[in-house]
Amino acid sequence: MVQHSQALDLEEALSAIQQLLPEPTKQETCALQDALGRVVAQPIHAALSLPPFIASAMDGVAARSKDVDPNAPYSLRQVGTSFAGHPYLGHIEPGQCIRIFTGAAMPEGADLVIVQENIVEQCDDQITFVPHTTQETHIRDVGNDVAKGQCLAERGERISPFMLGQFAAAGISLIQVFAKVRVGIFSSGDELRDPGTPLSDLAYGQIYDSNRLTVAKLLDDLPIQCVDLGCLPDDPKKIDDALLRATNDCDVLITSGGVSVGDADYIVERIRRHGELRFWRLNLKPGKPLAFGHIHSCWIFGLPGNPISTIITALLVARPAIAHLAGTSMPIPLRIVATLKSTITHTAGRTEYQRGHFEYGIDGHTVTHTGQQGSNRLSSFRNANCLIEIAKTQGDMEVGDEVIILPLTSLLH
Ligand code: AMP
Ligand code: MG
Repeated sequence: MVQHSQALDLEEALSAIQQLLPEPTKQETCALQDALGRVVAQPIHAALSLPPFIASAMDGVAARSKDVDPNAPYSLRQVGTSFAGHPYLGHIEPGQCIRIFTGAAMPEGADLVIVQENIVEQCDDQITFVPHTTQETHIRDVGNDVAKGQCLAERGERISPFMLGQFAAAGISLIQVFAKVRVGIFSSGDELRDPGTPLSDLAYGQIYDSNRLTVAKLLDDLPIQCVDLGCLPDDPKKIDDALLRATNDCDVLITSGGVSVGDADYIVERIRRHGELRFWRLNLKPGKPLAFGHIHSCWIFGLPGNPISTIITALLVARPAIAHLAGTSMPIPLRIVATLKSTITHTAGRTEYQRGHFEYGIDGHTVTHTGQQGSNRLSSFRNANCLIEIAKTQGDMEVGDEVIILPLTSLLH
């Protein structure tokens, strides 16, 4: 294992986390309507074939291909109708047909649907057709989408709305999923007041806590139970009490603030004292001080307190780690090459993630940064739809240079 005195690249930190964090074991049964975003714990198999019967793919006329004339107009006698949900139960004999609609069961004896555009006229029960070929049958065979017993989801897959639709269609109503990860979120710092505190109560030197809300919402769609643990004061004794209580109750703790080397930064030494610190610094800008370790079986991410550092480390480190703990494979963000439309100032040393706005047009993907990038400036996320990834070896960049961008939507996926 890496020494925690050494600063890690993001990839090294993620792979260390992946090796350390266990696979989930706790499972529960979940109703289909509550399963969105949950992680499949046992493979799911279709209870029936889809479609379960031979069905029409078009509105038209079900008939026998032997009765179709490709060279001259011809007529068939309509003996019934098959609507979706109301099948025609008779057998189609030579010279006969039925009206049929999309999704309706095909009657026995018929092997194609003639689309209604081929009907010339209908007189009582006689339907006359233009000459046409039988190349396209316009029917869906049993299991043309899914075969009975087919695996629809493997262990570790996160359930999407599309999957839910298929499970519903395939007769699945209960799903075995991994239990939710219990994530406690602290802020840390004597200066912090809860959002909603009247402005008149905000003493000189105090600020509103923005990190707790942001971190909770950045993780909101993961299969977690989020516990708001409030603010930790800059007091080692009180931090100890709160940390030890929370580590007994949660699978993961996320703190922000108090992890640097200031006189009021206590989180790192408290993790060291009561548990194990696995690493502490990343070659990341913003987000250099990031403490990762555990107390008992609770994993702790001590994120830096500057709001942008908190967001970047929550997105790039804590979120994938929690997804892994929840039973999925660690998500790999989408990376796209884009052309810079603004210059970038960067000193080689740490990989930097600037906030950017990208577009797609005739010149392909282009990107502009969102202005000043200070790690306190939440304004840098205004109008941002991506992070611009600037490699640690890179120097300043010019308009027209190629750069890697990470769309925010893919980081929140
Ligand atoms: P720290 O990491 O504790 O030294 O904090 C770094 C900077 O981030 C300081 O300016 C803090 O006031 C600020 N900060 C820390 N935690 C929060 C928070 N929860 N919300 C807003 N700003 C914070
Ligand atoms: Mg602080």
